[in-house]
Amino acid sequence: MKFSTRKVAIVGTGLVGASAGYSLINQNICDELLLIDINHERAVGEAMDLQHCIDFTTSRTKVAVGSFEDCTDMDIVIITAGGPPKPGQTRLDTLELSAKIAKSVVQEVMKSGFNGIFLVASNPVDIITYQVWKESGLPRNQVLGTGTSLDSSRLKSILSQYIDVDPRSIHGYTLGEHGDSQFAAWSHLTIGGKPFMQILEEQKETLGNIDLDEIIDQVRKAGFEILHRKGTTYYGIGCALASIVHSIFNDDHKILAVSSILDGEYGYKNIATGVPVILTRQGVKEVVELNLTDDEKVKFDQSNEVLRKYMATIGY
Ligand code: NAD
Repeated sequence: MKFSTRKVAIVGTGLVGASAGYSLINQNICDELLLIDINHERAVGEAMDLQHCIDFTTSRTKVAVGSFEDCTDMDIVIITAGGPPKPGQTRLDTLELSAKIAKSVVQEVMKSGFNGIFLVASNPVDIITYQVWKESGLPRNQVLGTGTSLDSSRLKSILSQYIDVDPRSIHGYTLGEHGDSQFAAWSHLTIGGKPFMQILEEQKETLGNIDLDEIIDQVRKAGFEILHRKGTTYYGIGCALASIVHSIFNDDHKILAVSSILDGEYGYKNIATGVPVILTRQGVKEVVELNLTDDEKVKFDQSNEVLRKYMATIGY
């Protein structure tokens, strides 16, 4: 008889890693959860705390503390090692430290013989995702980052306050960098299947005062609005990570905006950026190419230019 288990390792058990672990076990998404951190005692503390949740959940996830060698038979390794931006910094300002950490993490994980999927949350997530792909030598479908998944969710959440529709009935994405240069693909945003731009046109009287630039600005700034109040953000990204892992294990073929390595899609190669992809047991099955408007294409190019500029500082 053949049993299959769903094994996930989290490298970096700070606030983001712990929140991802909490979401994973609460939603019964994996059978084994391995925690790795250079601060070993922190990982032990988080593992104990998570183990004590099991009696109250519907799953019996085995939570353990491990080392990089234990990644050998993991299905997914989530990288959340790194530190959040300090006040006054952008995500891009954390590149030097994150890149140094990611390089050593990937080398150690690959030494174990790992051949699963890397899922990156460490910022700047698009550049670190690209770096993980290059350093690991894995096929591009096996490396992805959270990208604009959280921003797309923030967009739906903010928009739902204006139009009073459940965010889950809104379909659409922000694309490009998980950072200040991201943009909303308004031309592809639908509500209950109806194009949002058409709804705006039809309901000028009630929705005429919606300022799209103001909404995307709120999305861009959301992380920092939280950071100014509580120091950093972790629940949203924890849920985004759990949702991506869930889609991979379930072979969902769900479409989510994540950071994916492009190989000709949207006219780009050798870059990881926020685009919609189809998620399956293989990771990224396909990048979904939206037919962007000219204005959106310009914004996508500008965002990729920002990423390229920072990629160059670490030799890509
Ligand atoms: P944190 O400081 O709370 O935790 C980071 C953890 O990484 C620490 O426990 C530290 O000991 C560990 N670590 C550092 N180097 C390591 C190494 N070489 N090997 C193993 N562990 C190592 O930080 P956080 O708030 O959890 O944020 C983590 C990362 O997630 C940051 O880069 C942050 O910007 C990013 N983040 C991303 C998003 C997103 O949408 N992608 C959202 C929030 C935070």
